[in-house]
Amino acid sequence: MAGEPQADCLFCKIVSGDVPATIVRETETTVAFRDINPQAPCHVLVIPRAHYPDAASLAAGAPEVAADVLREAGEVAAGEQVDGQGYRLVFNTGAGAGQTVFHAHAHVLAGRGLAWPPG
Ligand code: AMP
Ligand code: ZN
Repeated sequence: MAGEPQADCLFCKIVSGDVPATIVRETETTVAFRDINPQAPCHVLVIPRAHYPDAASLAAGAPEVAADVLREAGEVAAGEQVDGQGYRLVFNTGAGAGQTVFHAHAHVLAGRGLAWPPG
């Protein structure tokens, strides 16, 4: 069923606590944790607790949780004190765009110059 935990999903295992993570913030519907391979001084992932493979399917299946992810991304930026300097939210969608974990997640990136357009 849409949103149900998937046994083979790394981020579902972080939600359940079976895989450890450096958790920054948690809500009833979301978890935010530090990326294990940071691409910027601030690199935090915000995920829904529910399993959806990407941002678009999350927005279609649970729009209120998609809004929670976006709100939490802003709270992470404020908590990391990068909201003043600016930060980037990225949802890689599809392997061709660099998505490697097929559980929806927002990357919160900041703390260095962020080129535009991105690579
Ligand atoms: P993406 O490539 O957009 O699917 O993003 C997946 C992200 O998850 C990458 O930036 C990885 O570095 C990160 N990642 C993979 N495994 C872990 C883990 N165990 N804990 C934290 N971040 C992870
Ligand atoms: Zn999952």
